[in-house]
Amino acid sequence: MEKQNTMPNKKAIFLDKDGTLIRDVPYNADPSKMELLAGVADGLRQLSTLGYTFFVVTNQAGVAKGYFREEALAGVEDRLQQLLSDSGVTLAGFYYCPHHPEGAVQAYTKRCHCRKPMPGLLLEAAVMYGISLGDSWMVGDILDDVEAGNRAGCKTVLIDELRHERKKPLDGYRHPAYIADNFSEAANLILKNT
Ligand SMILES: [Mg+2]
Ligand SMILES: [Zn+2]
Repeated sequence: MEKQNTMPNKKAIFLDKDGTLIRDVPYNADPSKMELLAGVADGLRQLSTLGYTFFVVTNQAGVAKGYFREEALAGVEDRLQQLLSDSGVTLAGFYYCPHHPEGAVQAYTKRCHCRKPMPGLLLEAAVMYGISLGDSWMVGDILDDVEAGNRAGCKTVLIDELRHERKKPLDGYRHPAYIADNFSEAANLILKNT
């Protein structure tokens, strides 16, 4: 009989991109404008020693709104991998939602389950890579990231450098397990609570 191992046993950290890993430039798909935020490379390197696999999960409504083509996101992913590889960090996957309910490009204009705060991107990665969501984390800079992480059954860290997001109602799925002021602090919180 064929031996099967279907128990998800990998642990992941799901990472928002804009405002979490790189400086937030609204609707940017130009690789030359991408800049890693302070503490990201070091933080991820530390976390990788704990056996975490990294996935980007990002809303890219610029596709639905017609600001850039879906194909442009390959260049964004490549640039991000390149920026991180200088520090010895690799992303196992780059998941994006190109949709928006009020888009300009018909093919991408819809309500979907992959646009955060819905957890579709995390669930898709989990199935594909055999990830145990309860042992995994979502890190992001807005409450929609927190909600997506909680809906997927992950632990969550909100990076709230400007201290605005934490003043909104933190109810239901929008309650982060931890709040950090920057990426280094978020990484330390995960290190301490793994
Ligand atoms: Mg963000
Ligand atoms: Zn979507």
